[in-house]
Amino acid sequence: MTATAIANAAYIAAALLFIMSLAGLSKHETGSTGVRYGMAGMTIAMVATIWLSLSGEWTDSSTIGLILLVVALIAGAVIGLWRAKVVAMTGMPELIALFHSFVGLTAVLVGWNGALHSGDLAPELVGVHRAEVFIGVFIGAVTFTGSIVAYLKLSAKISSKPLILPGRNFLNLFALVGFIALTVAYVITPELGLLIAVTALALALGWHLVASIGGGDMPVVVSMLNSYSGWAAAATGFLLGNDLLIVTGALVGSSGAYLSYIMCKAMNRSFVSVIFGGYGIEAPSETEEETGEYTEIDAASVAELLKSAKTVVITPGYGMAVAQAQYPVAELAKRLREKGVEVRFGIHPVAGRLPGHMNVLLAEAKVPYDIVLEMDEINDDLASTNVVLVIGANDTVNPAATENPTSPIAGMPVLKVWEAENVIVFKRSMASGYAGVANPLFFKPNAKMLFGDAKDRVSDILKAL
Ligand code: NDP
Repeated sequence: MTATAIANAAYIAAALLFIMSLAGLSKHETGSTGVRYGMAGMTIAMVATIWLSLSGEWTDSSTIGLILLVVALIAGAVIGLWRAKVVAMTGMPELIALFHSFVGLTAVLVGWNGALHSGDLAPELVGVHRAEVFIGVFIGAVTFTGSIVAYLKLSAKISSKPLILPGRNFLNLFALVGFIALTVAYVITPELGLLIAVTALALALGWHLVASIGGGDMPVVVSMLNSYSGWAAAATGFLLGNDLLIVTGALVGSSGAYLSYIMCKAMNRSFVSVIFGGYGIEAPSETEEETGEYTEIDAASVAELLKSAKTVVITPGYGMAVAQAQYPVAELAKRLREKGVEVRFGIHPVAGRLPGHMNVLLAEAKVPYDIVLEMDEINDDLASTNVVLVIGANDTVNPAATENPTSPIAGMPVLKVWEAENVIVFKRSMASGYAGVANPLFFKPNAKMLFGDAKDRVSDILKAL
């Protein structure tokens, strides 16, 4: 059996492990097994690739291949381990966006390499190869700049407000038509100028697509870029003739696309509108700062309120992640449950800055899965709840989404916490959330503000209890 045949068999095993990994990741209980399958698949894939390189069947000079692989592996492993060690949980979304940009950049470089060194191809395959180069470069470049803008927005290095250029839908359409025309021209005559033009066009399109999407729709953009990075990897697989990259890229591409679709449905957004850079969305009107009288409360009074409550719902948001308040929050839930209070968690699908962000934090703090409910499972029960604790959530509990049709987040389903008997909002100031929209919840008669860092305030409540 040749080395290539053995490596291909290993690639099939790795692809199966990746599929099992995705299946495992779809449930809380099997999540960590899913991660292990993924790690096993990646190890098999890497060992097979290194071995293939050593065998000399893959490259003319196995020594150069080996040196390149070892250098790349060491550099990648050192940077990856260092980043994973130092990254805060709240920094994960921007780190992931940055990782997606690397996949995009790789696809561009592999595409350029494929154009400059096309090797000996059968005449009937030359046209296909040129089209593959263009598709790979296009998807890669869109993913690259799109992910960089997402990184800048998520890390608050640029404003999360949508960029509304005049005729922006026309600009996106022009870029798509331009890409098709350039591809046809390149298949006929492979001029270097055409390759430069398509790269520049795709880089600009990626930037514009993500820049035109507003803060509230960023969760979908992140999962959409995840999907694009998968398609970029698949395109790279076609160019390199690597079946595992094609399969893995398609898995990432399709699961990312499906996740984007689910998130669009959860947020009542049009999938088509989001993937076309906010197509059909009007520029948001400058919202007037919400003003009114708000009531403050202290930790001791919240403890009293909780002691007399029968039902409590906790709705965490991004602020819980910033404060790392999940441990005292889990302790609070445990104490109240011991006192016979029914405690449940209500999780909005886009709470935090990552799909599943809150679920991860609560699982880390060992909150039992059966009291962690999704928004749709708990929303109807909020009206009959004695106390809702809104811990560092803002956009996901904003009544403007249902009450104000001109709000930039109008139509997005939210946790209807204001329907409860009492709502306690834990935050440090009256500032708005990620989408930059004022929140009328703070001025409702049944809402009280508990100002300060969420971890400190929850710890104060624990002491008072
Ligand atoms: P928001 O981002 O709307 O609000 C978080 C709130 O937490 C802020 O108002 C802030 O107020 C408060 N806060 C911050 N730090 C602390 C702290 N240490 N202690 C107490 N409070 C704190 O959070 P949500 O989770 O409700 O909404 C998520 C938003 O992020 C949505 O707009 C969503 O679209 C977007 N998004 C979600 C992604 C996802 O995949 N989940 C990805 C990208 C974006 P203050 O400063 O006054 O303390």
